[in-house]
Amino acid sequence: MLPSVVVNKKGEARIRRGHPWVFRSDVTRAEGATPGAVVRVVGPQGRPLGYAFFSSQSEIRLRIVERGETLPVGFLRDRLRQALAWRATAAAGASAYRVVHGEGDGLPSLIVDRYGDYLVLQTLSQGTERLKPEIVALLVELLQPKGILERNDPRVRSFEGLESKVGLLHGEVPEQVEVEEGGLRFEADLWRGQKTGLFLDQRENHLMAPAYARGRVLDGFSYNGGFALQVARVAEQVLAVDVSEDAVARIRRNAELNGLSNVTTSDANVFDLLRDLADRGEHFDSVILDPPAFAKSKDAVEKARRGYKEINLRALKLLSPGGCLITCSCSYHVHESDLEEILASAAADAGATVTVVEKRRQARDHPVVLGVPETYYLKCFVLRRLA
Ligand code: SAH
Repeated sequence: MLPSVVVNKKGEARIRRGHPWVFRSDVTRAEGATPGAVVRVVGPQGRPLGYAFFSSQSEIRLRIVERGETLPVGFLRDRLRQALAWRATAAAGASAYRVVHGEGDGLPSLIVDRYGDYLVLQTLSQGTERLKPEIVALLVELLQPKGILERNDPRVRSFEGLESKVGLLHGEVPEQVEVEEGGLRFEADLWRGQKTGLFLDQRENHLMAPAYARGRVLDGFSYNGGFALQVARVAEQVLAVDVSEDAVARIRRNAELNGLSNVTTSDANVFDLLRDLADRGEHFDSVILDPPAFAKSKDAVEKARRGYKEINLRALKLLSPGGCLITCSCSYHVHESDLEEILASAAADAGATVTVVEKRRQARDHPVVLGVPETYYLKCFVLRRLA
């Protein structure tokens, strides 16, 4: 018999609306619930609400895993199978993609990324941390990877009282893994790279970019050249910029690996570089901006808005009429409508008439849950400067 956790009226309403999280203040009784346990959740009048991962430390006390009256014995296997089935559609043909995206796959706080024969795992709450041995065994059974690496170094683990660690869970994982994206080869460092190695959430946007890029292209915040290399196949010249020297070295290696000789790199701060380019009277036919999250928390939103406004304003000034700006934000706290407003104000200040060509988001293997805004974090606008 699983321990029961009681939530108040507010918690009950939230669960019944379909939200998977219940906060500490809405949990009224949790006797017998140990860290990371799967618990039965009941409302203030004893109404059964489903099953959840319990956390003894996080502000997010409960993460709902099942809304039904019973928890099927093989629920973990079923969810993993469902997640895999969706990738056959959403990531068809890709060699590197997200296999499990937490709440978006009904497996809150579990991330599994695939890089060819290797998997990278993140267990970001006490619940999935506790189930790690079962999860690893199931992944081995379902996917037969050559190796599984745990990249349990995101900061959110500290909110759960979990330590930061990176290590092997199964088989072997080499220092560098080569994957293919849209016909190009990329090296990924699963042990030390950002996220789990690559920005898989931009995969579909990388593939869309060549449709709009031409002539002379600027790719700010390039990391490993995810956008830069795709557009290099159709553009004359690409300038790929990143503030990290390691990232720039990686862009060069990846360009070489693919025989792309029209990519030049610069290890510069994009804010400074955009100013210098404008001072020199330079112009680009296409610009791509994919900065890191400027707003990591609610308090940082105002400063982040100024940052987004500044880079987009400067980019629009550099953009030749007829050219496209592909501009992204992965700050959850800056919502799509906020970003649109910021972009409109940047266009007005730049004296540019701009059309919205596309509004895109994170790749479909990073599903957004309807009614759960927290799961929609990456926005990607394609804009075209008319005049
Ligand atoms: N566009 C990449 C992902 C970019 S992640 C892709 O699609 O794969 C953001 C990148 O911005 C990181 O590589 C980081 O090193 C870089 N960065 C952060 N601040 C920067 C700044 N002020 N100027 C230039 N690069 C910056």
